Amino acid sequence: MTTVTLTEGEIHELAKTCLLSNGCDEANATAAARTISSAERDGALSHGLFRLPGYVASLRSGKANGHAVPKHEQLTAAAIRIDGDRGYAPLAIEYGTPLLAAAAAETGVAVLLIRNSFHFAALWPEVEALAEKDLVGLACTVNLPTVAPFGAKTAFFSTNPIAFAYPRPGKDPYVFDMASAAKARGDIGIAARDGHELPPGTGLDADGNPTTDATKVHEGGVILPFGGYKGSAIATMIELLAAGLVGDYFSYETGKTDNRDGGPAIGGEFILAMSPQVLAGPGWADHSEDFLSELGAMDGIRLPGERRFAARRSTDPIAVNADLITSIRALI
Ligand code: NDP
Repeated sequence: MTTVTLTEGEIHELAKTCLLSNGCDEANATAAARTISSAERDGALSHGLFRLPGYVASLRSGKANGHAVPKHEQLTAAAIRIDGDRGYAPLAIEYGTPLLAAAAAETGVAVLLIRNSFHFAALWPEVEALAEKDLVGLACTVNLPTVAPFGAKTAFFSTNPIAFAYPRPGKDPYVFDMASAAKARGDIGIAARDGHELPPGTGLDADGNPTTDATKVHEGGVILPFGGYKGSAIATMIELLAAGLVGDYFSYETGKTDNRDGGPAIGGEFILAMSPQVLAGPGWADHSEDFLSELGAMDGIRLPGERRFAARRSTDPIAVNADLITSIRALI
């Protein structure tokens, strides 16, 4: 694979220029570009520039609103609902996070329910933003159906990601962010593009047979949940939180309505914030830190998030697939 090297700032500018020239206004382009460039910075390649052609497709097809203005409704002291106005999730999240954080700091537990927006990104930005405010964050969302529930051979769930962050004052938070599928669809697309095999148990081909061929899974096949029936139960929970509780499409409903332009599907996101200061009381940070330090010091252990934080601290320029950059420039 030929690569070109760019700085985080150059990636941000490229993404923003591309979004602006395809119908986004300044606020929407800036928020989405920040998500894309921070993913590249953290080495989260499946949710960086790789996603930009999909964003553009959804703008060009008229599905996504590049001029979205998110609005909120305060349902109770601890529940805020955002209407994303058919825009991309980063702007709705940016708008809703301060409201959510203030509510959680006051009540101990608060929830942000985002409707009517397009999530095409990693989820760690939203939970890390809460951890930066000394709040525990949990977020999940749904998308197009690409994952067969345990025992089935046809898609019903999306890859249904879930992210969790726990603050560690003075340190990087504890963060995991993962698809509840054996692999994120973006990573399967990258494996298909680069000719890499998938680990056994990742997916089925179009005939419902297990395969390690990324192209067969990506084109016509289905992805499997991680951990068999246990992953299937987690994926069901995510559907019920991000669609049932939020009041937006389940993945199987999205599958019936989306225009398949290659971009994200409209839907909801569920974000929970909890204040350890209110719930556990003073001393929470030292108590949790003892646990996380012991865990992180065990032989053979690396904590989730550590790879991303190490990539974030690297001062090396970022290597990006050269063909991807060429195809993005052609979209401007
Ligand atoms: P990975 O399997 O690569 O990683 C999942 C988590 O496990 C990360 O927090 C990672 O930390 C951690 N981890 C990985 N390896 C180890 C290890 N050896 N020891 C300890 N922890 C480890 O992620 P996925 O492929 O499941 O998901 C990739 C991204 O795709 C996520 O950001 C997710 O939000 C996104 N996604 C978005 C969707 C959407 O609709 N918007 C749909 C599906 C996925 P680290 O990052 O430090 O490696």
